[in-house]
Amino acid sequence: MGKLVIVGTVAFDAIETPFGKTDRILGGAATFIGLAASQFNVDSAAVSIVGDDFPQEYLDLLAHKGVNLEGVEIVKGGKTFFWSGRYHNDMNSRDTLVTELNTLADFDPKVPENYRDAEVVMLGNLHPGVQMSVLEQMDTKPKMVILDTMNFWMDNALEDLHKVMKHIDVITINDEEARQLTGEYSLVNAAHKIYEMGPRYVVIKKGEHGALLFNKDNVFYAPALPLREVFDPTGAGDTFAGGFAGYIAKTGDYSFDNLKTAVIYGSTLASFCVEKFGTERMENLSTSEIRKRLDQFKSLTQFDIELT
Ligand code: AMP
Repeated sequence: MGKLVIVGTVAFDAIETPFGKTDRILGGAATFIGLAASQFNVDSAAVSIVGDDFPQEYLDLLAHKGVNLEGVEIVKGGKTFFWSGRYHNDMNSRDTLVTELNTLADFDPKVPENYRDAEVVMLGNLHPGVQMSVLEQMDTKPKMVILDTMNFWMDNALEDLHKVMKHIDVITINDEEARQLTGEYSLVNAAHKIYEMGPRYVVIKKGEHGALLFNKDNVFYAPALPLREVFDPTGAGDTFAGGFAGYIAKTGDYSFDNLKTAVIYGSTLASFCVEKFGTERMENLSTSEIRKRLDQFKSLTQFDIELT
């Protein structure tokens, strides 16, 4: 079993969708990644920061799932990162209403000693300078470094983002962000520009339209499972990344073919995440439910064609 280091926000979220509204619930990139990766029984550790306003029960929930929390700093008198978003009627786009960095503004991450030899590092969404610092603390070069980011950091810390991108193997971003990062409308052209920035593999997430995996020689497309109801897409991207990273850490196989399977696992887990508000669905997800959905995925995408 491989080790996985996860860096990202552990947060309070307040979400509005056409179906309802929540007050400050558990959220954050590292939270969703950790919950998704825990499905693979990997030895994972989260590196993050919260204030002492953060409920112990939320931390217990992650610890219970087997996510090591030694690297989650709790700042006395500090306030936890807070994000609020409102989804449009189509649920594919959202407006960020509030981003309060709070304790995240001066975060100096510490990777626990025992995880500095992890094979896989998942640099979840937060300041790219913090992502870089985590990489610099690794004693051995990880076999695979995966980075996720968003428009907020492109707007606020582009130079740092370019620096850390030089040291990663895989980037996962959504289509809009890929266009913003490269100035290219075509996602194929965007992927080619992104290789020049560092990563060998580019995963472009397209919400309800699935995900694309590119490297220089290959392209793979996985649709999203057509769902009757999408309740709250928050965390779907992080859940995808957590499923992807967790599967890679578990298998220790870094080939393009195995990355394809990782995309399927990521998509499958993300399809559960959107069914309830926040982390609710991911907290109680059974292996048999995942298995059933993987079967659905298989039959959705499998076809035979006689080519003459
Ligand atoms: P996703 O829907 O996958 O893009 O992720 C949503 C999660 O990202 C929420 O739980 C937020 O707490 C977290 N988040 C929102 N904005 C940021 C940001 N600028 N940096 C890091 N995490 C963020």
